[in-house]
Amino acid sequence: MRLPPARQDGRKICVLSLSLRPGILFTTQVSLKFQTMAVLHNRVSQKELKERLYQETEPRTTISFYRYFPIADPKIFRDELYQALNAISVFGRIYVAHEGINAQLSVPQTNFEKLKMYLYSIEALNGIRLNIAVDDDGKSFWVLKIKVREKIVADGITDQSFSMERKGKYVDAGRMNELLQDKSTIVVDMRNHYEYEVGHFENALEVPSDTFREQLPMAVEMLKEEKDKNIIMYCTGGIRCEKASAYMLHNGFKNVFHLEGGIINYARQVKEAELESKFIGKNFVFDDRLGERITDDIIAKCHQCGQAADSHTNCKNDGCHLLFIQCEACTAKYDGCCSVECQTVYNMPLEEQAAMRKGLDKGMMVFNKSRQRLRPRLNEEGKK
Ligand SMILES: [Zn+2]
Ligand SMILES: [Zn+2]
Repeated sequence: MRLPPARQDGRKICVLSLSLRPGILFTTQVSLKFQTMAVLHNRVSQKELKERLYQETEPRTTISFYRYFPIADPKIFRDELYQALNAISVFGRIYVAHEGINAQLSVPQTNFEKLKMYLYSIEALNGIRLNIAVDDDGKSFWVLKIKVREKIVADGITDQSFSMERKGKYVDAGRMNELLQDKSTIVVDMRNHYEYEVGHFENALEVPSDTFREQLPMAVEMLKEEKDKNIIMYCTGGIRCEKASAYMLHNGFKNVFHLEGGIINYARQVKEAELESKFIGKNFVFDDRLGERITDDIIAKCHQCGQAADSHTNCKNDGCHLLFIQCEACTAKYDGCCSVECQTVYNMPLEEQAAMRKGLDKGMMVFNKSRQRLRPRLNEEGKK
């Protein structure tokens, strides 16, 4: 396998830092920190990595997969995985926990089979379905990050008797469409508001909370009179609704289904089998693309002028970066910013902008693009 010279350099740096490790005398505190930090990780700047990706001519495929299965030592699992995936130039974001693995990644097309063979060589992942993103330019990720987490999906469940062993029944696209013909079937969207806003299944129920951990008890409460009805849970890639279906069964619901592989897999099956898509609009995804179009319906509105629009964007002001929906006219009018205030800052000389950001309270987490921050700000915009 040939690698571009730049990447070989990057790898040398990695190996060097590893081989030095045992010989370096750190104070206890520092060495502990060093141990808990990712041992195998990139030492090249984000900017440079992104530039390398854009110079890369080899086409890439964006895929995602997850599986709930017991992992005894997530740290060891993580390090082995990092070495194997890094060797075949895989980029992406992967979470590993005692309860399983959740991965979104991009792989050079020529290495796709190698990746598949490697994953299948791990017993619990043998035969795992790899969801291939549609409407994809392969530029979703430019670095490989694998993190050990408490859970692959934070659920807030404290009940020790809850188990992922008993899950709802999987449904594929064909079965989903069939079940939807029965008007008494209840479809539940287990994603966040900004995801539901740009695309969802027809008549899907939104569970209005910012976090999945709050949505679980809320869904149980909302549907408590419907324990005998057919209930289909869905989410982006299946990981949230699979846990949600297990939680519904745990709470006495009888006929719980969940969409296998989520909207991503549904979209693919609909396309392949030429089925009618009951999902309308865009499927929001958390990478550079911020969404893949499933149908031509535009069901959301520009947060600034109210015109039909469903393209999310990050505010161009580096001190803001708010994620919001903006139409083309407003993109031009506000220079891609979320407000006149941000536009004013954006049009200042760069040094002045940097000086302003320095003055801001770090506690405001101005550069934090996390979901927690996203939702309240979106609400503020929505109220305008
Ligand atoms: Zn607009
Ligand atoms: Zn802004």
